[in-house]
Amino acid sequence: MVKQLAENLYTFPIRLPNSPLKWLNCYVVKGGPGERDLLVDSGFDKPVCRADLFAGMEELGLRPENTDVFFTHVHVDHTGNGMALARRGCRILMGRTDYAVLCDSPWSRQIWHMEMDGMPRSEVERLIQINKRSGIDVMYFPAETLDAGEELAYGGYRFRCLLLPGHTAGHMCLYDRERSVLLLGDMVLFDITPNITNSGMDGLDNLGMYLDSLDRLSAYPARLALPGHRNWGRVSLEERIEELKRHHALRLSEAEQIVERHPGISAYGTASRMKWQIKAGRWEEFPLSQKQFATGEANAHLIHLVRLGRLRRQEDEQGFITYWK
Ligand SMILES: [Zn+2]
Ligand SMILES: [Zn+2]
Repeated sequence: MVKQLAENLYTFPIRLPNSPLKWLNCYVVKGGPGERDLLVDSGFDKPVCRADLFAGMEELGLRPENTDVFFTHVHVDHTGNGMALARRGCRILMGRTDYAVLCDSPWSRQIWHMEMDGMPRSEVERLIQINKRSGIDVMYFPAETLDAGEELAYGGYRFRCLLLPGHTAGHMCLYDRERSVLLLGDMVLFDITPNITNSGMDGLDNLGMYLDSLDRLSAYPARLALPGHRNWGRVSLEERIEELKRHHALRLSEAEQIVERHPGISAYGTASRMKWQIKAGRWEEFPLSQKQFATGEANAHLIHLVRLGRLRRQEDEQGFITYWK
């Protein structure tokens, strides 16, 4: 199941059960004699993911005490096995901003904000129970932090850490210009659109940051542009960047039109009226986790529209947030 992509560069899939992402692409750079090896991203904190992770490491002859692990961003499908790897003796490296997020804001706490975005309290409470049971809370692990522009050298590669926020506040990609290799994490995916999400309360414009990051990414051409999930090769990175920009432009108009027709609507209400590519037909039938992602996506678009001056955001005395043309 391990595939070689270039000299000293390998990948293997880690299955992500019950996730529409299907699998994570784990990347490995083998160091030369006497050098350390690098592994990028790790899957959920689940037995299936760990089995795939450790089988891949074994096939490649990685010894934990000689392995550095880099996490592109804080999401649990990437960092889930941070503690398992650290316990076995790996050294963990991660961008400073997302590591700070991991250390001080558990996922459950963020879910409470959903109520201020219009999700009924009964659904918020059930969502927290579901997340607790499925163990997808972000778990703490020790790591050394990296800043933008720092270099990671392994197996003849010199990867620069590119800080490209939007998908998360501190998402990082690794880029080797000379070898024309770019490890994308979830910055650009080719088969699906990376989730860009906001809470109405966090005061950030994640979509705005993401669109800026897409523009900045154009300055890093790569023969091998390798995504954190699914396949690549259907279109070039440049073409995919353009597709993603068009996708968000359409979504922005869609959200704007919904608010125009329903003044004073919440992010949850907007999400319920947007079109989604999901098997469940009606909003009422969406699994709660998908309602959560959809509300977050709607918010990212609404907040960006507010930033652009195309919509108005209003917060009432109880903290409930609504949007107006
Ligand atoms: Zn992610
Ligand atoms: Zn991911």
